[in-house]
Amino acid sequence: MSLIVIDPGHGGDDPGALGYRNAEARKADPACALIAPTEANLNTMASHLLAGELARSGQAGQLTRMEDVENPSAPGRASMANHKNADLFVSIHHNSAESLTAHGFEALVCRDRGAAFDLAGEICKAVFRRFEAQERGLTVRGVKIRPGLAVLRLTKMPAVLIECGFISNPFEAEFLGFPEIQQELSGLLAETIDEWLRGRPL
Ligand SMILES: [Zn+2]
Repeated sequence: MSLIVIDPGHGGDDPGALGYRNAEARKADPACALIAPTEANLNTMASHLLAGELARSGQAGQLTRMEDVENPSAPGRASMANHKNADLFVSIHHNSAESLTAHGFEALVCRDRGAAFDLAGEICKAVFRRFEAQERGLTVRGVKIRPGLAVLRLTKMPAVLIECGFISNPFEAEFLGFPEIQQELSGLLAETIDEWLRGRPL
């Protein structure tokens, strides 16, 4: 059994990306309260689902935060994984952009080679086959190299940051807001991670 530390991005005072509905509401009233789900809410839900799906595959998933109200620092999130001597670190996010039409799933890693890069490639392939190839509402932008991201740089084990899609895009926000889609995506991620962990030379 491997230990996967799952990191729900943002939380507490940091809602992350606000999403299309909040952006629209704030055009009318910049001071209005946030409508759920924000990125942080979706990240929490997706991370709990992923932990459950990993347990079903016989792997152990532990979260860096359990609730929406918590927001550990980026170095704090990485050091949790380092102290637990995790085999893999997976940070879960939802993306946003100025352009309403920006869309797609991404997997971010520190370097353009190595274990995390390989896993990120497998994850993107799996999401492509399940969603984009079947024209099911989620496309794949692929693996991106982001050496500057603290959670990827400071973790001592392979680390991948997933951007599930753009909640600034009205269509993608709706698609990713369906609990059954989050469940299916979590199941697919867990399956791909499990296969990758089992196939890795020790
Ligand atoms: Zn984020």
